[in-house]
Amino acid sequence: LLQVKELRKQFGKQEVLKGITTDIKAGEVVCVIGPSGSGKSTFLRCLNRLEEASSGQILFEGVDLCDKKTDIDSVRQRMGMVFQQFNLFPHMNILKNLTLGPMELQKRSREEAEAYAMELLHKVGLAERANAYPQQLSGGQQQRIAIVRALCMKPDVMLFDEPTSALDPEMVGEVLNVMKDLAAQKMTMVVVTHEMGFAREVASRVMFLADGYFLEEGSPAELFGNPKNERLQSFLSKVL
Ligand code: ATP
Ligand code: MG
Repeated sequence: LLQVKELRKQFGKQEVLKGITTDIKAGEVVCVIGPSGSGKSTFLRCLNRLEEASSGQILFEGVDLCDKKTDIDSVRQRMGMVFQQFNLFPHMNILKNLTLGPMELQKRSREEAEAYAMELLHKVGLAERANAYPQQLSGGQQQRIAIVRALCMKPDVMLFDEPTSALDPEMVGEVLNVMKDLAAQKMTMVVVTHEMGFAREVASRVMFLADGYFLEEGSPAELFGNPKNERLQSFLSKVL
């Protein structure tokens, strides 16, 4: 679904990604872990060209995202993105937040967009809050809404950048549960996370990013149970 070839990204003289190659298949849940500043967010942002790669290739469903001729807006509609901050529109109620993209960008009817939004709201247990405004909801609720908002566009892949790290601890679980449900439904997901429990339980593959490369990748059992790379061993000893 997503093929990354020799992806490099520099900020000025600092080379953050030094030539990353990986292949993400449909239905996979890939968790990206690594030290702060190692370039996890940069990697994710390159995947939907929020960040321009310095060189390399990113193929999404066969289309080269780095090609200037590619219509990135239509590609982005098929890539849902959820950030640490929820970024909901504060002056719109929840239902409006959820239907704006499908109606404006995908030209779906209000009836269809609202019906689908309500169906997803039911699934995350927030249907009765459809008319509330974002600031009336808790952080965990807002983040569940942000996930639903991305899903309303019917994306082929979901990108998550530390979706729970801005949340109070008691709200982390409800957001992770929504993500677990998504994974169970075979959504393709790339998740940057510090939640090692989630990675261990849900990931089909874990990738450790440090020093500009994926220094090690494998199943959660391999990576957590028998880490080979020294940098990974020391990282895990600090976070586990
Ligand atoms: P964290 O775990 O703290 O979120 P990260 O792994 O996501 O870290 P990035 O945010 O990708 O790391 O940043 C990697 C490096 O690139 C950092 O040294 C950062 O300072 C630098 N960097 C990121 N974005 C920019 C930018 N827009 N301009 C200049 N430097 C940047
Ligand atoms: Mg980051």
